[in-house]
Amino acid sequence: MKPKYRSLACFFLLSSLALAQHPAHHKKSAKAAPVARPKADPALAIHQSALIIDTHADTPQRFLDENFDLGQDTPVSDGHIDLGKIKQGNLGAEFFSIWVEPEFKGHYAKRAMDLIDSVYQQAARHPDKMAMAFSADDIVRAHDQHKFAALMGIEGGHAIENDPRLLRDFYRLGVRYMTLTWSNTNEWADSSGDIQDPNVKHHNGMSDFGKDVVREMNRLGMIVDISHVSDATFYQALLISQAPVIASHSSSRELTNQPRNMTDDMLRAMTNNGGVVMVNFYSAFIDENYRKASSDPEKVKQRDAEVEAYKKAHAHPDGSPVTYDEYAPIEKKWAAQFPRPPLKSLIDHIDHIAKVAGIDHVGLGSDFDGVTSLPEGIDSAADLPRITQALLQRGYTREQIHKILGGNFLRVMREVEATARRLQSERKESAALSFEDIELMVGNRVGPAQLIDRITKHGVDFALTPERRTALKAQKADDAVLDAIAKARRK
Ligand SMILES: [Zn+2]
Repeated sequence: MKPKYRSLACFFLLSSLALAQHPAHHKKSAKAAPVARPKADPALAIHQSALIIDTHADTPQRFLDENFDLGQDTPVSDGHIDLGKIKQGNLGAEFFSIWVEPEFKGHYAKRAMDLIDSVYQQAARHPDKMAMAFSADDIVRAHDQHKFAALMGIEGGHAIENDPRLLRDFYRLGVRYMTLTWSNTNEWADSSGDIQDPNVKHHNGMSDFGKDVVREMNRLGMIVDISHVSDATFYQALLISQAPVIASHSSSRELTNQPRNMTDDMLRAMTNNGGVVMVNFYSAFIDENYRKASSDPEKVKQRDAEVEAYKKAHAHPDGSPVTYDEYAPIEKKWAAQFPRPPLKSLIDHIDHIAKVAGIDHVGLGSDFDGVTSLPEGIDSAADLPRITQALLQRGYTREQIHKILGGNFLRVMREVEATARRLQSERKESAALSFEDIELMVGNRVGPAQLIDRITKHGVDFALTPERRTALKAQKADDAVLDAIAKARRK
C-alpha cells in the first residue's frame, strides 16, 4: 500500500501546481525512506519544508460575528482561511487580528476580549490540528507536532482605551503584537488613514503617552507593529523602540502609491532597526492600476452610500454597530468590478522590499479575510505554494525563500523576547525595593544575610511604619532585617 501511495505522489510531483493543491501527501513522503524518485518539483519541496508564518488575517470576525468554525471548508468567495486551506498551503502559523472597529467606541476593550476569546474557542475545538502559541518557541513546537499555531495581534491601539493596564492585560491574554493605529488616529498616535483630515486632532506622530506605550510594549515583549501608522509615527516608533519592529501587513509605496504602504526610505530604516516588513496581498496595495481604478471617487462614493444604506436597514436592536462582516458582501461585489492584478504584482513587492530593505527584512502579511480582492492565482491560503514557485523562478534560493516565508519573522520575535527579558531584569536591578518585594522575600524565607545585602544595595522606597513592622514580624522577619530597612530608608 505504501509504495503505491508513493508512486502516486511522485507522479504528482511532476506537475508543479497540481501538487501545490495537494501538499498533504508531501509531508508523509518526505519522511519515508530515501528512495530514488523522479525529479521532484523543487518549488514544492522548498515550500513544504518551510515553517510558514503569516502575520495578518482578519478571521476572528468570522469566528465571532458569523459563528464560523475553522474546521469548515468554505468557498473562497466566503473566506480565505480554514483548516483545509491551511494544510494545503502548508501555513504553519497565523497571527489572527484582533481588529476593533472604531464604531465600537466605549466598548473597545470588550470587543477585543470577545475576539480574543473567539480564537481560543477555535483552538479548543480543534486540539489535534491547532494550538495557541505565545512565543517563537511555541511556534516551532507546534510545527514539530504538525499543528497549526494560532497567535494574536491587536490591530488599532485604541483598543487599550488609553490605559497601560489594559495593554498589560492583553499581553497576559496572549496578544503578541499591537498595530499602534488602524486607519483611525487614536488619542496617542497618528494614522496614515486620516493624516490629511483637518478635522482630526493629530499629535505630530505620537504623544508622550504614545511613546510610553511603545516602551511598555518593549518591556512586556509585545511586538511593535507600524502598519497603518503615519510616517511621523513610524519614525518616532523606530527611534524609541529598543527592539526590532514589524509591519504586519504593508507593501511598497514606491511600486503602489498608497499612503499606508512604505517608502524606500522607511524600508531602509527597517533595515537599521532589524525589523521585518510583511507584505500585504491586497490588490489595491500591490498594483497601481487596481489602486487607481478602485479609488475612483465616484465609484467609492457609490460603494459607501450602499454600505451606509445597508447599515441603516440592518441596525441592531441593541444599538451595537453593524460589523464589517455583515456588509462585506457589498464590498466584495463592488471590488469584483475591477480586474484582479496578476500574481507578478505581489511578487514585485516582495522582490522590491527584499532588494531595498534586504533579504532579512521581508515576509508575508496576507491580510486574508480582511480584503476584498487578491491577485490572480491567490484565492486563499491554499495557494501560498504559488508564491514560493514565483520566487524560485525569480532566482531566489531555498534559504532566501525560507527567510521570506517565516524565518525572518521568527528571528524578530526572538529578538523582541530577548529585549523584554533584558529590560525586565535591568529594571529590577535599578529599582529600590518596595514593601511588597520584601514581604515576598521574607515570606519565601530568603535568609537574613541575603536580605540585608539586597536592602543595603538597592535601598527601599517605603517608610517602616509600625503596621509594616508588625506585618514583617508576623512573618518572622529577623530584627537585623528590620534595622537594615529602617537604616536604608534614612539614607
Ligand atoms: Zn489592516
